[in-house]
Amino acid sequence: MEDASLLRYARHILLNEFGIEGQERVQTAHVLVVGAGGLGSPAAFFMASSGVGKLTLVDDDVVDLSNLQRQILHTTERVGQPKAESGKQALHALNPEIEIDARVERLDDAALDTLVAKADVVLDCTDNFTTRHAINRACVRHRKPLVSGAAIRFDGQVSVFDMRDDAAPCYHCLFPEAEDVAPDNCATVGVFAPLVGMVGSMQAAEALKVITGIGQTMKGRLLMLDSLNARWRTIGIVRDMQCPVCGGRPAA
Ligand SMILES: [Zn+2]
Repeated sequence: MEDASLLRYARHILLNEFGIEGQERVQTAHVLVVGAGGLGSPAAFFMASSGVGKLTLVDDDVVDLSNLQRQILHTTERVGQPKAESGKQALHALNPEIEIDARVERLDDAALDTLVAKADVVLDCTDNFTTRHAINRACVRHRKPLVSGAAIRFDGQVSVFDMRDDAAPCYHCLFPEAEDVAPDNCATVGVFAPLVGMVGSMQAAEALKVITGIGQTMKGRLLMLDSLNARWRTIGIVRDMQCPVCGGRPAA
């Protein structure tokens, strides 16, 4: 590792659990971040600052003034620009060492398949169930770890669906897909700005742990945050052997 990198990542290298070995794993990892909004902003920032080798950032939307209250990748100057491009600028300014692939597109199943297959870990930072389920299906197909986050009003959720482990549940085991759901979104009900920072930062933390193999991830657990009353709660989640998405996997 070059001197500049040793210095840049010194505070991770100093951690006994992390060390040079962990840092080198981060620097060879390929992370897919879907969504460059409220959750994707802090998640991508910390993945980039930590020196992830390659970061693919996907979003088909453009920066709107109403995003800036919480989507900290973007600036007033970049209102109207594609979020993926705006995000790439912010991340490169923070860390020019990493490779960033900005994609201004809505991912269909075929595109998701291609991107998920290449990634070591997938961060779902989107805000709608249809995309969440599509990302989950691709992660199940390619047996990739999925770090999922959600935030609405004052309530947040984080979990890891680690498809490398036959005992682990997938996103669908926890949230079965219903055709008739019209979920609330931030545009209609609002969201507390620091909440997306908390959830997105947790996603980055979980992704770094998946990559380095340190500690225990949230695999098999769902963290629920009530940021209005400052309460955090974790519940266990189990694999649904009848799950139409992942039920065909081998049993642990
Ligand atoms: Zn499942």
